[in-house]
Amino acid sequence: MTTPTSDNPLLDFSGLPRFDAIRPQHVGPAIDGLLAENRALLSRLESAPATWDGFAAPFFDANERLARAWGVVGHLHAVMDVPEWREAYNARLPEVTRHFAELGQNQRLFAQFKAIAARPDFAALDAARRRIVEHELRDFRLAGAELPEAAKPRFQAIQEELAALQAKFSENLLDATNAFAEYVADEAELAGIPADAVAAARAAAEKDGRAGWKFTLHMPSYLPVMQYAESRRLRERLYRAHATRAAEFPELGSQPEWDNMPLIRRILALRAEEAALLGYASFAEVSLVPKMAGSPAEVLAFLRDLAAKSKPFAERDMAELREFAAAQGHDRLEPWDIAWMSEKLKQARHGFSDEEVRRYFPEDKVLAGLFGVIETLFGVRIAPDAAPAWHEDVRFFRIEDATGGLVGQFYLDLYARETKRGGAWMDDAVTRRRTAAGIQTPVAYLNCNFPRPVGGKPALFSHDEVITLFHETGHGLHHLLTRVEELAVSGINGVEWDAVELPSQFMENFCWEWQVLRGMTAHAESGAPLPRELYDRMIAAKNFQGGMQTARQIEFALFDLLLHSDFDPAGQQGVLELLEEVRREVAVIFPPPWHRFPNSFSHIFAGGYAAGYYSYKWAEVLSADAFAAFEEASAGDSVLDPAVGARFRDEILAVGGSRPALDSFKAFRGRAPSAEALLRHSGMIPA
Ligand code: ZN
Repeated sequence: MTTPTSDNPLLDFSGLPRFDAIRPQHVGPAIDGLLAENRALLSRLESAPATWDGFAAPFFDANERLARAWGVVGHLHAVMDVPEWREAYNARLPEVTRHFAELGQNQRLFAQFKAIAARPDFAALDAARRRIVEHELRDFRLAGAELPEAAKPRFQAIQEELAALQAKFSENLLDATNAFAEYVADEAELAGIPADAVAAARAAAEKDGRAGWKFTLHMPSYLPVMQYAESRRLRERLYRAHATRAAEFPELGSQPEWDNMPLIRRILALRAEEAALLGYASFAEVSLVPKMAGSPAEVLAFLRDLAAKSKPFAERDMAELREFAAAQGHDRLEPWDIAWMSEKLKQARHGFSDEEVRRYFPEDKVLAGLFGVIETLFGVRIAPDAAPAWHEDVRFFRIEDATGGLVGQFYLDLYARETKRGGAWMDDAVTRRRTAAGIQTPVAYLNCNFPRPVGGKPALFSHDEVITLFHETGHGLHHLLTRVEELAVSGINGVEWDAVELPSQFMENFCWEWQVLRGMTAHAESGAPLPRELYDRMIAAKNFQGGMQTARQIEFALFDLLLHSDFDPAGQQGVLELLEEVRREVAVIFPPPWHRFPNSFSHIFAGGYAAGYYSYKWAEVLSADAFAAFEEASAGDSVLDPAVGARFRDEILAVGGSRPALDSFKAFRGRAPSAEALLRHSGMIPA
């Protein structure tokens, strides 16, 4: 492009992002320029020759420039959330969002992709390019591009009403959550609650100008009470309030106008109508089109099989809990006792402190352990590298192949900061592809929120944090070890939504391997590796109530799938009755009749998980089964088998979205996925 913007570092795509030069004032001109450039190009492309080189290649090139520049802005907004960056990001967010939304609705672009697919030489296009065109056509069709003109206004109206209803669902839930507060005046009622939760409750009351302690329905306040509070009255109060949020009866702060049930019925009806307009039998069918799972029937069979295999263990977990409670003098376990009694049982059986474990995981040992696993499995070398970054904490590394060739690079931003978004995540900075200049190597951001080093000593990570680091690195490897040369299916691009967590959850497994842990740990004072006896207790605690937890996840997933496939929103059966039916089939815990779980199930009514909640278990099955290939090859020795690692890299990581995830899995494993490994890893081994 000839636009004279070379003085704007955000528009320099020649290499790594220029974090040393990019400032908030560069955002407006850069993004405005790219948007204008893209619009001009698009209007030319609408009538360009319908070939890969004439249309698709320049189309994806233009998108990449905008996505890369905007990606840097989004990244800085997430890791440097100071007012100047927040303002720069928010000022352009609506326009960028609108631009990409319009692309998905552009009939002329749809016509161009259709024309490419209709060409006699389409079959001669390489597989990755064919798949990209097929993805584009699929997404246009799901967005209503092929509806008869007469049906389009209705389809559009459905989308808009759904968006508004889903937003309202969240708002009702948030308002109901915020409306409740329990002020505790009597210190005796705090017995059992951890000191940090008590301190937070005291600070919250103080902020309201009240004496005593304030507890709310937000997780950091709610959970410690449910797990640890000796006061049954306090637990019951919070449980009732939590269970009846956004429900129809005015109880414990919730208002009837926040009732989410009418919204649920309307959302389900609209989704069913949308599916019918698109020519599908149910919304579940629509949801599964871009996913790995083939049909609602396949997902139902998957969930019911897992339910049948895990239910005996869920029942065993429940019986064990009742027995333990009875021995403590609690013959009747109320719903608000379960988490609290479970915690007591866990402490009695497998008690150890997370802080004790943390002493064994200094940062340098953990990173060396992680890199060692990657190097051994995938035949690469990871070495420190240098690049401008956004903060002095950030480290930068390069991955090289056996001959020293550059494979990819990544930023590692480990520590929590006030200006950093919470949680941990992987993001792509540059995606691997072939350009006129050759291969563009991929670059990733790995971001965590771990405690930083204090007092000149190395940072110490909890075992959970180590697992998080391995998880995000798994996403990073999916992005970085790709060999695909077409951007739209390179790395994690184009990978089915229910298969994206395979590499990340796969990597978590190594954090539970004795061979790996022994070499990855050194006590902060003594330098000794993790003792075997402590490791055994960690494993036992990991699988604690595994049956009950699995049953709960299956209950949610089955309810979600049936609601969106085998349920008539206008029919006789109510949403709550369907949930009851699902519980009779798979659950071991039966909440009281006034419990309104659906009213707070935002994953499926306000988030992107509609007819997709099953994905959690689906991806766990895939990752556990993939890891089992390493266990089988190890024959009791080290699971770090380079031959199996090379196969995992070749068949799963390297191919990214360029072929269906099921084909990739089968190519790696030699067969379809099986749930046996997940059951075994979760301690559910039939006697
Ligand atoms: Zn993940």
